[in-house]
Amino acid sequence: MSYVDEVLERVKAKNASEPEFLQAVEEVLESLKPAIEANEEKYRKEALLERLTEPDRQFKFRVPWVDDNGQVQVNTGYRIQFNNAIGPYKGGLRLHPSVNTGIIKFLGFEQIFKNSLTGLPIGGGKGGADFDPKGKSDREVMAFCQSFMTELGKYIGSDVDVPAGDIGTGAREIGYMFGQYKKIKGTYEGVLTGKGLSYGGSLARTEATGYGLLYITEELMKCHGESMEGKTVVISGAGNVAIYATQKAQQMGAKVVTCSDSTGWIYDPEGIDVALLKEVKEVKRARLTEYAAARPGAEYHEGRGVWSVKCDIALPCATQNELLIDDAKQLVANGCKAVCEGANMPTTIDATKYLQENGVWFIGGKAANAGGVATSALEMSQNSERLSWTFEEVDSKLKQIMINIYHNIDDAAKRYGEEGNYVMGANIAGFEKVAEAMLAQGVV
Ligand code: NDP
Repeated sequence: MSYVDEVLERVKAKNASEPEFLQAVEEVLESLKPAIEANEEKYRKEALLERLTEPDRQFKFRVPWVDDNGQVQVNTGYRIQFNNAIGPYKGGLRLHPSVNTGIIKFLGFEQIFKNSLTGLPIGGGKGGADFDPKGKSDREVMAFCQSFMTELGKYIGSDVDVPAGDIGTGAREIGYMFGQYKKIKGTYEGVLTGKGLSYGGSLARTEATGYGLLYITEELMKCHGESMEGKTVVISGAGNVAIYATQKAQQMGAKVVTCSDSTGWIYDPEGIDVALLKEVKEVKRARLTEYAAARPGAEYHEGRGVWSVKCDIALPCATQNELLIDDAKQLVANGCKAVCEGANMPTTIDATKYLQENGVWFIGGKAANAGGVATSALEMSQNSERLSWTFEEVDSKLKQIMINIYHNIDDAAKRYGEEGNYVMGANIAGFEKVAEAMLAQGVV
């Protein structure tokens, strides 16, 4: 049995109750096969893959807080410090009722390769809680964030582990967490990214994941002799990534005709009105029905359906496993040319294969949404320098990083005779640097 298959079997036996983690490991290890086989004996002796799939450590903790009725509520908090071979742990905090050990673990595992791909010195970590900020008052969110940080603060630090936002964790939550960390520790350090501009945040961090997604998509199109101008784009999600992906796609001359949230989706044939979408989602924190009510010509549909709309480019930007095999078939039948993932693992393994086998250019989230964490690392640099860069400076660095990522993954795929397999290219390019650093640092 090959070394990869052996490790996969062991990981499956050991983590049977964590399907998302198993899915992520399988996707990565399968596509690493050519790179592993070239060094199989050495990697096996060093137990490199066993070490790579076993987190450095993980924390799971009680988060008690008091709601507006005086009732004590209890949530579960998580932080996984997966791998710090190339820099301090870095990865977001997800606040969503679905959060559990397996989900945080899959996200932390993917983060190792994504962070490596940025070319910046950051290791892989992730965290969060099964807390739902939706429908909570600001005071309740603050009470939760303070209690969460009271425990999390023991394990993080600007040279140790630097969390950021993710689903459910935006500027408000980061602000409350930063305040609590400062109060407990008495130090003013860049321990979180995604901070407000008045207290150490970076310009362009808010836009970074969505903008970065479009920079890499544009480079992909350019390298296939196409441009974004006049293209029809479908996007899922209506949060941070989706909103700024829509904005940048429109700036590039494309027309984005959809968005979605966890209850329904919008088809707006005239093109999504970004200002209205921001008002509904960022200011009012309301449902998409409010978008449809304010926009004649836009249709609101309950449930899922974004991928049924005819498009040139599809950008899943909501959550994991939201683009399934039937969706992939529909996209292919409708002539979709490219799928680039804004979310983490939104496309299932069979859907990814179907898209690739049917000639769709597919860039997975590790590469396509790396702009967020890359800009977080730029925020860390500014905090260390005690300086702030201009929006243009950060944005141009982000753009260059995304263009470099495209060419690195393209080159890695070509090196192993798999031209156009950007999933394999991303996994190999991300893996090579981490593997080299791990081997250089001995058995730790
Ligand atoms: P937000 O919380 O801002 O938005 C998430 C969006 O997805 C919302 O529209 C939400 O709908 C929808 N959504 C969430 N969960 C589900 C679900 N189970 N089913 C259907 N829809 C759902 O998060 P972000 O935009 O920050 O993150 C989106 C994705 O991008 C995630 O996979 C995240 O890990 C990834 N990502 C984010 C980065 C960042 O910088 N923010 C960086 C890299 C990756 P509703 O409003 O109804 O909850």
